[in-house]
Amino acid sequence: NPSLGEKIAGLVTGGAKSEVVRAVTDVSLTVDKGEVIGLVGESGCGKSTLGRMIAGIYTPSEGSLRFEGKPVAKPAGRRVDKLTTRIQMVHQDPFASLNPRMRIGDTVAEGPVAHKLVASGEAAAYVESLLSRVGLDAGYRRRFPHQFSGGQRQRVAIARALAMKPDLLVLDEPVASLDVSIQAQVLNLFMDLRRELGLTGIFISHDLGVVRHVSDRVAIMYLGRIVELSPTKDLYADPRHPYTKALFDSVPKLGQGQGVFKPIAGEIPSPLNPPSGCAFHPRCAFAGPRCKAEVPKLKPLSTGRLAACHLEDGGVQ
Ligand code: SF4
Ligand code: MG
Repeated sequence: NPSLGEKIAGLVTGGAKSEVVRAVTDVSLTVDKGEVIGLVGESGCGKSTLGRMIAGIYTPSEGSLRFEGKPVAKPAGRRVDKLTTRIQMVHQDPFASLNPRMRIGDTVAEGPVAHKLVASGEAAAYVESLLSRVGLDAGYRRRFPHQFSGGQRQRVAIARALAMKPDLLVLDEPVASLDVSIQAQVLNLFMDLRRELGLTGIFISHDLGVVRHVSDRVAIMYLGRIVELSPTKDLYADPRHPYTKALFDSVPKLGQGQGVFKPIAGEIPSPLNPPSGCAFHPRCAFAGPRCKAEVPKLKPLSTGRLAACHLEDGGVQ
């Protein structure tokens, strides 16, 4: 039972050593086997950072990430390779994530051969079966990334991730760079793979429409914190956190004309210097004095639903 994350807190060290970014705070998330969680928020909310921590690419400065009870990263920040190969990531831009000078068959085979998941003599057949699984011609394994469309490249990136037989797949905006018609095809592929392989996943998106059909539960993030976590059906039927409501209101509704598009009031504050109390208070229509003073805790509302808002917990006064 892949249980990820107890309290993943605080300062995350990215790229350069000196670059310390407070991107994610007090996040606690458990993913059940076979479950897909959608992770939604505006850009800069920390969802990609959280995804990278889950995949073992970034190390949380406090707290821990556990996979089947074992920590994903060692305290010193060195990766535990055996574990991290079982957690694979699919990135937003498939062109940037594929080596342009490598035939895609070699790219897909590289990881599983190196980790002895497949013998090198069987790599070609293994790659061909993966390519057909993601809806690509098996003969394409001799081609290079530039010979594919964006949607095909994302299928290759998914095949490369699946080649590692991952127990958990982290997809970071996997369709955001694709045309809308292609997005639907890649989402349908993901749904088929979920059914066939029983995938466990974290599906990151800024788009509520995208996660709706692929997620069992959805976590809404704002400035590094999860503000609402609910079964997908409940969230879409009755969003409870004011930020979730504002996100829904900002989505243009089909057939209702352009006037319906309503961006959320105010700018997203810097995650380096978040507002006091509830970080959403400068943009929230319901904010009261308590909201500036006190950080709302993520609390149960009803079965399986959590929200972090004083309105749901004693009021804003
Ligand atoms: Fe709005 Fe206050 Fe709830 Fe934050 S805690 S979302 S400011 S009502
Ligand atoms: Mg991102």
